[in-house]
Amino acid sequence: MLRPDSPRLLLLLPTVTYRTVAFIEAARRLGVAVTVASERPSTFERANPAGLVTFDFADPAHAAEQARAFARTHLVHGVVAVDDDTAVVAAAIAEELGLRGNPVAAARAARDKHRQRQLLAAAGVAVPRFELLPTAADPERAARGASYPCVLKPSCLSASRGVIRADTPAEFVAAFERIKRILEQAAPASRSLLVEEFVPGREVAVEGLVSKGALQVFAIFDKPDPLDGPFFEETIYVTPSRLARTAQQEIAACAQAAVTALGLREGPIHAEVRHNHRGAWLIELAARPIGGRCSGALRFDTRETGKGKGETLSLEEIIIRHALDMPIPTLEREAQASGVMMIPVPGPGVLRDVRGVNAAGAVPLIESVEITAHPGQTLVPWPEGSRYLGFIFARGETSEAVEAALRAAHASLEFLLEAAD
Ligand code: ADP
Ligand code: CA
Repeated sequence: MLRPDSPRLLLLLPTVTYRTVAFIEAARRLGVAVTVASERPSTFERANPAGLVTFDFADPAHAAEQARAFARTHLVHGVVAVDDDTAVVAAAIAEELGLRGNPVAAARAARDKHRQRQLLAAAGVAVPRFELLPTAADPERAARGASYPCVLKPSCLSASRGVIRADTPAEFVAAFERIKRILEQAAPASRSLLVEEFVPGREVAVEGLVSKGALQVFAIFDKPDPLDGPFFEETIYVTPSRLARTAQQEIAACAQAAVTALGLREGPIHAEVRHNHRGAWLIELAARPIGGRCSGALRFDTRETGKGKGETLSLEEIIIRHALDMPIPTLEREAQASGVMMIPVPGPGVLRDVRGVNAAGAVPLIESVEITAHPGQTLVPWPEGSRYLGFIFARGETSEAVEAALRAAHASLEFLLEAAD
């Protein structure tokens, strides 16, 4: 219940997001007052001036001034960002209002793939060799100078959009032209792309919380489907990881080294790390929680871990507690294995129907099947696309069983597409 002295959280939400409900829900459970800040004025704003505000997300310094003006009438105790873009704004607001958060420079560095590579390489964190290539460069010439296999990618996009592997100079040139076209559409101000050595190996996602610069890892998700390219659309995430304990320790140490090198101090992180015979390699670290709806795969249960009073916490609840400096009963994930499948785009076309959702949901261990694409939607496969059809969640005793359940549920789904004109 809200009381006059309830702490107030400023929640930064881009207009399009899956995450709103989970955060609002968690805040309500915690008795925290929430002000949602977004980029576009809402018609409800006048009716609820304490609950909704509009900030200039494109200009973090300006957004911080707007937050200061708002805080004169409504005391703000914490700020939370939900994605890459708002992470920098949250840092600027935290700095301005003296709240828990990351230094702006660190949040900015995490957001810029080239800057991130520079800082990590300088700090001795294992990263692939990299080079920044202007979009105005001659691709034939760059292709002759590259080593193979390599990966070309935009330095500013996310969700593997525009990330392409090239094994030959001809593939390099094709990838370069393709990324240039993607950038013209998605980020016209962007003038360069990154060319990197391809790092072979198993890939995991690392989820954790940074406090005073120290990273506590609460989950390492295996990505059991090979991510060898040429495109890198994600599918299954399963935790706990089946990698050897020493590999997991190397992965956690690599993520901590990256946090330190970037200068991140407070808040959730999501990192992609690859592991091979030469150890752990940092592919990317973001100063935000796991994306999309996938946070549903994480649950913290103090009953099972024997700490606290026996409650279940969501990731959103932990993030809010941390931002407001409220006690966090546990950072230990529940004892069960858990997994999520991001439903891949079956091909280009217009989605007419998804069949078999009930059958998929009835597969043992499946907790939910959430189709987020809607009939009539034009589906865009990777590397141009970046939106999955939906998500399948499963929990069970072992990671093997969870992975098998996700595959069985996916196999029950049937996607009816029509050719796009
Ligand atoms: P995004 O921000 O779009 O997620 P990433 O840099 O994280 O971009 O790349 C997306 C995916 O592409 C990674 O999770 C990984 O599977 C693959 N990838 C990117 N760079 C490399 C690399 N240098 N070597 C191997 N795989 C890579
Ligand atoms: Ca990534």
